[in-house]
Amino acid sequence: MHSFTSADAVFFDLDDTLYDQLLPFEKALINQQIELENSQIVPFYKQVRHYSDVLWKLHVKGSLNLEELRIERLTSACKDFGILLSKEKAIAIQERYEYEQKIITPFSEIPSLLKSLQEKGKVVGIITNGPVAHQMKKLIALGIDRIIPEERIFISDGIGIAKPDKRVFEYVQTKLNLTQSKCLYIGDTWENDIVPPIEAGWKCIWFNHRKRKPQTHHLPNETVTEIDELQLK
Ligand SMILES: [Mg+2]
Repeated sequence: MHSFTSADAVFFDLDDTLYDQLLPFEKALINQQIELENSQIVPFYKQVRHYSDVLWKLHVKGSLNLEELRIERLTSACKDFGILLSKEKAIAIQERYEYEQKIITPFSEIPSLLKSLQEKGKVVGIITNGPVAHQMKKLIALGIDRIIPEERIFISDGIGIAKPDKRVFEYVQTKLNLTQSKCLYIGDTWENDIVPPIEAGWKCIWFNHRKRKPQTHHLPNETVTEIDELQLK
């Protein structure tokens, strides 16, 4: 299916939308000799992301710090896969994961897509959850910081609101003086990238390359499973 969603402003999620987040994660697991079969790696990764989203709500409320979240998402997912993971080992995986994230590369179509949208006169930006320095490091590693100006990069810790709070999208819209119905968001997770932009009156495209199931009644304008299916007007 090809998408022909039109918009004047196009914003992207970062993690697992602009680059394959599974790769650095898989390398960290191998480095720390976590015993999973090849066929278990994707389901395990999805489980870690699931716990990440669930625990994020506690983090936003202030009852769990980011370090605790990162440990707990790993130990909980390991438990589901019959692996008892020590806190030390979880920290070691997280550290290696952060190291691997410094050498990430974007999905191959992404740089040309961002540039072609800019050449068409569109506002192109990033909206991502996480600490500013951590997310910026990834954008630098991806070379995205050289394509998208800083004033169009919105990081939750920097603005004080995080997805799935729809006010993130309202904040961006107000800050850049954009029209709600002309704004489009593209991301990979249902709860963070589909529900809140729709609630904020934005268009959205679900980049569902992990082939997940919708979780609510919300309807994205398009769903694609490959970047090159995106054809924006
Ligand atoms: Mg994502």
